[in-house]
Amino acid sequence: MATTSYDIITVGGGIAGASLAKVMAEKGASVLVLERDAVFRDRVRGEAIMPWGTAEAKELGIYDTILASGGRDLPWWDGYVGAHRTSHRDLTSTSYPKEAVTAFYHPTGQDWLLRAAAEAGADIRKGARVLGVKTGKEPTVLAQVDGAEVEFRARLIIGADGRDAPFRSWAGFLVQHDPGHTLVAGLLLDNVHVVDDTSHAWLNPELGLWILMFPQGDGRIRGYVCYGEAAGFRLTGEGSIPRFLEESIKGGVPESHYAKAEPAGPLATFDGAASWVDHPYHDGVALIGAAGGAPDPTWGQGLSLTLRDVRVLRDALLGDDNWDVAGHSYAEEHDRYYKIIHDVELWETQLLMETGEEADARRTRAFAAWKEDRTKQLDVLLSGPVSDVDERTKMRFFGDE
Ligand SMILES: Cc1cc2nc3c(=O)[nH]c(=O)nc-3n(C[C@H](O)[C@H](O)[C@H](O)COP(=O)(O)OP(=O)(O)OC[C@H]3O[C@@H](n4cnc5c(N)ncnc54)[C@H](O)[C@@H]3O)c2cc1C
Repeated sequence: MATTSYDIITVGGGIAGASLAKVMAEKGASVLVLERDAVFRDRVRGEAIMPWGTAEAKELGIYDTILASGGRDLPWWDGYVGAHRTSHRDLTSTSYPKEAVTAFYHPTGQDWLLRAAAEAGADIRKGARVLGVKTGKEPTVLAQVDGAEVEFRARLIIGADGRDAPFRSWAGFLVQHDPGHTLVAGLLLDNVHVVDDTSHAWLNPELGLWILMFPQGDGRIRGYVCYGEAAGFRLTGEGSIPRFLEESIKGGVPESHYAKAEPAGPLATFDGAASWVDHPYHDGVALIGAAGGAPDPTWGQGLSLTLRDVRVLRDALLGDDNWDVAGHSYAEEHDRYYKIIHDVELWETQLLMETGEEADARRTRAFAAWKEDRTKQLDVLLSGPVSDVDERTKMRFFGDE
C-alpha cells in the first residue's frame, strides 16, 4: 500500500479540523483533512460562539469567513428569570474581550472554513472515513477513500473527530467523563418573533430549565432547552417538537415568540456530561476541539474552547521546530484553560440547574452575594478563562465567603 506524507493530517473537518488546516496551510505547512461526511447536514451542534471565542476567531483570521458563511454578531445578551428580564447587557462594552456573540449555521460554517483551508493550500478529502491510527515517530492513519483503504503519514496527526468519535481511544488516550447531570435539546426554528441582535437566556430555577435562543436573522433561531436528567424524558424527533416549544414556554419564553414558529431542522437531545482527555498530546498525535475536551453543551463553551485549542496549537507549532516539544506545550496549556471552564460549568450547573429547597437556599445566598459584589458572579463563560479559579473563587461564587 502506497503511503502519502504530509506535515499535518486532521482527522475530521469540523470547525476544529478546518480551522487548524486553514491557519497552518497559510503558514506553509502541507495539510491533509480527512472528513467522513461528503455533505454536511444539521447535526444539532453549537451555533453561538461566546465573546471570548469571537476574539479567538478574529485572532485566527477565520471570523470574516464565519460572517461570509451567513454568520452575524449578537452584541446584546438578555437574561430572564422566568418571564422577567433581569439583564440587558451590551457584550461589546462589558465582556472582558469587548466582543459580541457570533451566531452562524454550523453546516454552512464548516463548508466555508474547509473552502478557506483549501484556498490556503490544504488538501481536503470529503467522504474519507478514518479507520485507525498508529502513533509514534512517524504516525500514520488508515482511511477509506473512494472505496479503497489508503494509508497517510504525517509529522503530526490531529484527532478532530468530535465528542463521541473513537480517534482518542484508538490513539491510546484515557477518556474522562463527568457523571450525567443535564440534557440539552436543540432545534432550528423559522418565523420566530424575537429581537434579533440579542442572545436570549431564560432561567427557571424552580423547574430546573435553562432556555437559550440565538437568532440567525430573518426570523430563524437556534433554540436549546436544557433540563435535568431526572425529568425522565428526551426531546427527540418530530413528534417531540410540540413538547420542545411547551418546555420553552414553561421556562419563560413568551408564547407570542412561537406563535408562527416552524421547525427548520431535526430535534435531538444530547447528554450534558462533559468528556475530556488530560494532556491531549503524545507520540505525534494531538487532540483538538470536542475530541480533546467536550464540555457540557448547556453552557455554550465548546466552540470557544475549540478555537482556543487551534490558536494555542498553531502558536506552539510555529514557535518550535521540535513538534514533540510543541505538542507537549500545547497539551499543558490546554489542561490549564480547560480546567477553568470545566470547574465553572460544574458550579453553574449546581447553582442554576438543581431544584429543591436546598438548591433554592443556595441560590438565595449566592444571588445576594452577587448583588453586593458583582465580581463574585464570575463572567468566565462569556469573558473566557482569563485567570485561574480555586476553592476561594468557588466559595465567593456560592456566597459562602
Ligand atoms: C446540542 C449541542 C449544543 C451546543 N451548543 C454550543 C454553543 O451554543 N456554543 C458552543 O460554543 N458550542 C456548542 N456546542 C459544542 C460545539 O458544537 C462543539 O464544540 C463543536 O462542534 C466541536 O467542533 P469539532 O470540530 O471539534 O467537532 P465536530 O463538530 O463534531 O466535528 C467533527 C468532524 O469529524 C468528522 N468525523 C468523525 N469521525 C470521523 C472519521 N472516523 N473520519 C473522518 N472524519 C470523521 C465528522 O463528520 C465531523 O465533521 C454544542 C454541542 C451540542 C452537542
